[in-house]
Amino acid sequence: MASSHTVLMRLVASAYSIAQKAGVIVRRVIAEGDLGIVEKTSATDLQTKADRLAQMSICSSLARKFPKLTIIGEEDLPAEDVDQELIEDGQWDEILKQPCPSQYSAIKEEDLVVWVDPLDGTKEYTEGLLDNVTVLIGIAYEGKAIAGVINQPYYNYQAGPDAVLGRTIWGVLGLGAFGFQLKEVPVGKHIVTTTRSHSNKLVTDCVTAMNPDDVLRVGGAGNKIIQLIEGKASAYVFASPGCKKWDTCAPEVILHAVGGKLTDIHGNDLHYNKEVKHMNSAGVLATLRNYDYYASRVPESVKKALVP
Ligand code: AMP
Ligand code: MG
Ligand code: MG
Repeated sequence: MASSHTVLMRLVASAYSIAQKAGVIVRRVIAEGDLGIVEKTSATDLQTKADRLAQMSICSSLARKFPKLTIIGEEDLPAEDVDQELIEDGQWDEILKQPCPSQYSAIKEEDLVVWVDPLDGTKEYTEGLLDNVTVLIGIAYEGKAIAGVINQPYYNYQAGPDAVLGRTIWGVLGLGAFGFQLKEVPVGKHIVTTTRSHSNKLVTDCVTAMNPDDVLRVGGAGNKIIQLIEGKASAYVFASPGCKKWDTCAPEVILHAVGGKLTDIHGNDLHYNKEVKHMNSAGVLATLRNYDYYASRVPESVKKALVP
């Protein structure tokens, strides 16, 4: 019998369980103690065994269930048979109880592009800043990010033995975002969150121009968007290339689903069709509220240096 659920909602429900499984893998690699670190383009651009195993798990699990999807993962991995132990076949039934927004009800599998960051915040992961780490699965339709899942494997890891370790946040445009408590920074306070591992003069010039009350330097694009929706930061400012489509796709959906805005540093929307270049060459500017304040303060010199 054909499923009564739409392709999009089935995909989000599966992505939820698949991201959870990836989170388990991310924790297991640390517990086993061999990170298997490889330098990609530089000493701050790393890949670990957890990035590799989590991507294999996510991409193979998605492709088995949804063979017509376009799936783009961060890591360049050799094509090889994936161990059955890495496959997640489950789906999160709570998501299937939610209605699919009508504008997405006729979407077919082959129309969707999935952007996978199996482990966002790898540098911080290798340094033991474990709650900076997220697993990101973003879903795009007609070039627009419309649904996403963020697993945070080490959420609560310092909260004591009774706290539940890890959480999963999910969202669909037109439906909302779930798995966290929405909170805002007090009105009039400007707290900027930005990179801790990939800074340069452009990044700091742009942050300074925001005239912030406080600056948080933390790892991960997913982690910084979580700071925005939980009232820890009011703007995510990254005036540099380096961040890629798999970093922004899922986080952008969660932010947009609760009324926030993510663009490049010029104010342009990001596009997620399969042909798009992976690099967000013109940086990232994201806020939950007050977008215009931050956009108006980006210096012309920074804009000139960052070509979309
Ligand atoms: P960060 O805020 O430094 O954690 O960066 C957010 C995401 O963009 C992470 O996935 C980083 O790996 C990536 N990223 C940012 N800048 C660079 C860079 N210069 N080289 C490689 N990856 C970067
Ligand atoms: Mg990343
Ligand atoms: Mg990554």
